[in-house]
Amino acid sequence: MDTQGGVVRAEIVMIGTELLLGEIVDTNANLLAVALRNIGMDLYYKTTVGDNEERIAEVLDLALDRSDAVITSGGIGPTVDDVTRQAIARATGRKLVYSEELERQIAARFRNFGRRMAANNKRQAYLPEGAQPLENPVGTAPCFLSEDTRGRGFIVCLPGVPRELAHMTEHTVVPLLVERMGGVKVIRVRVLRTCAVGESNIDRGIGDLMTSSNPTVGLAAHAGQTDVRIAARADSEADAEALIAGMETELRSRLGVAVYGVEKEAVAEVVGGLLSRRDLTLGVVDTLTGGQLSRELNEAGFDSVVAADLHGTDADRALAAARAELPQGGDDRTLARLLAEQVAPDGGVGLAMIGPFNGRSTAIAVRGPGDLQTSEPGRRFEDSDLVRRWTVMLGLDRVRRAVLGVLESPVDWN
Ligand code: ATP
Ligand code: MG
Repeated sequence: MDTQGGVVRAEIVMIGTELLLGEIVDTNANLLAVALRNIGMDLYYKTTVGDNEERIAEVLDLALDRSDAVITSGGIGPTVDDVTRQAIARATGRKLVYSEELERQIAARFRNFGRRMAANNKRQAYLPEGAQPLENPVGTAPCFLSEDTRGRGFIVCLPGVPRELAHMTEHTVVPLLVERMGGVKVIRVRVLRTCAVGESNIDRGIGDLMTSSNPTVGLAAHAGQTDVRIAARADSEADAEALIAGMETELRSRLGVAVYGVEKEAVAEVVGGLLSRRDLTLGVVDTLTGGQLSRELNEAGFDSVVAADLHGTDADRALAAARAELPQGGDDRTLARLLAEQVAPDGGVGLAMIGPFNGRSTAIAVRGPGDLQTSEPGRRFEDSDLVRRWTVMLGLDRVRRAVLGVLESPVDWN
């Protein structure tokens, strides 16, 4: 990549057959990725390749095509299988040349460590022509920076030994990259949290925004929840915040009430807080999650908002009684509505999550403050953690929407 416009895009190449084959865990890649992120560099690719000169050169060549700064780890020891130097020379279009000065430095370092330099360490005194040696005070293998002869960018070559790599990254590579970037960029992230709406529905609502490059928008799905992550890069905090704010406004207008909170807020925490601030209490009939929904409110510190909590046999009994009262032709959703009505405390909120009917279907109904009422099919019943999780989310979310008085979001299922 041409670096005229400033270095922004980094790529890391991890070298070592043991890494490739999973014999050791790649902690270096993690360390490098975090370091790059902290200074605001884009990282789009990380490649692992074995100790093979041809394949390393191939990976590096591709990396130079698409990135400004390529950082390698490993394969610069003195042994025959350490071929990173040769591969970098090939990829950057340079000869490997011997440096007497470098050999002197290596020999001196051996002396400092109280060891004798072996003949094969001479190999380490060969660098791509024109490379800038980078001092490695914690090891003997010389690190270096080699610019591509075709102007595509540069490669920084680091050792595989984690302690050496960590030292070089902090003291040499980060300052060097910051300088080449023309200063640290600020990265700001905000996470909008949605619940009870499937990831594919969120995607349908905001998919076009996910191609934006700054800020970026990405999704992360958990059971019953989808996080929308906005990340902006800018020269200053204020600029990054402004980029995020613009995108957040657009996202919120598309997602509506599906967004229940930001950052790390849990659904139960938000719902409990909402009820408690408005002095509302909640009654629950729950034959589906074994009381999990009210337990989560308790655990979030809002046990005082739960006025009634029927689960287990209590809930089964309430369900049977309500069925006896059900008007002719009333379906499961009507039954759920009847129960929500019955369990709602005066002026408060009632929630019924009932089923399975015929071993499969479920129904959820909520009666909000005032006359607000709604009922809908729940998740298909299945005795699994995932479905229980979804049901809890759906129940909490319906309570939340009822309190807010906004029952529908633009991205709901239907
Ligand atoms: P040496 O001079 O020791 O040969 P080197 O630069 O050639 O150093 P490697 O031989 O690739 O580096 O790795 C040295 C040791 O460092 C490996 O045996 C391994 O234990 C560890 N190591 C290498 N790469 C990684 C990595 N990506 N993550 C964690 N540990 C690593
Ligand atoms: Mg080695």
